[in-house]
Amino acid sequence: MKILYNCLEFTLQCIAPDYCRVCRQRSDPGRPVCLSCIRRLPRVTHPCPRCGLPETDGRVCGRCQGKPPAFDQTIAAFRYAEPVSSIICTLKYAGDVSAARPLGLLLADCVAARGRGRPDILMPVPLHTRRIMKRGFNQSIEIARVTAKRLKIPLSTGAVRRARHTAAQQTLSLSERRRNVRECFDVVRPPRVRRIALVDDVMTSGATMDALAAALKRHGDYEVQAWVCARA
Ligand SMILES: [Zn+2]
Ligand SMILES: [Zn+2]
Repeated sequence: MKILYNCLEFTLQCIAPDYCRVCRQRSDPGRPVCLSCIRRLPRVTHPCPRCGLPETDGRVCGRCQGKPPAFDQTIAAFRYAEPVSSIICTLKYAGDVSAARPLGLLLADCVAARGRGRPDILMPVPLHTRRIMKRGFNQSIEIARVTAKRLKIPLSTGAVRRARHTAAQQTLSLSERRRNVRECFDVVRPPRVRRIALVDDVMTSGATMDALAAALKRHGDYEVQAWVCARA
């Protein structure tokens, strides 16, 4: 069955090759962004290993030294800048679920390049039911699904619930963001693993990831990584 599926996928790629999401030119099979565009994507340089903040000479940033987040490490594939930001907006606000594929694959490539601390499961950041009803899907699940498949790591989607509907974070200050998401996650089934990688589209202040990692760590001795497509 698996062989049949692989043959089918190969045939599909031959008759309907990938077009690059960025330049719209024909791309290599299985690559939704072409290599020449990948080379020009906005990378995160010398980030804080804890929160992924760019340009800290690779040292733990002041904020993490003062008040370390509940997650242990961050891997951010890109900075939140064009064209990555547009792909994310297409997914979240234009409802184009196919945009999750380039994001999930690029995130997988970035993580694979680091090559250490492989997690036991990937856990997308849950959305509240009300937001899922409005958007129709959870963008983090769509991205994580692609990443999990590429890296062959199990996906965990039902272990944590977003118990409280929170205001959108965009307009809030850091302390307001922290207050806004505090206690908003409910661990319904603590995963029986050691290493968890949380997956989200964007990390801005890290407050959401912090709240989710803290909720998990109240239920077990987990090592928690934060994997995001873009770091604002
Ligand atoms: Zn391209
Ligand atoms: Zn930091």
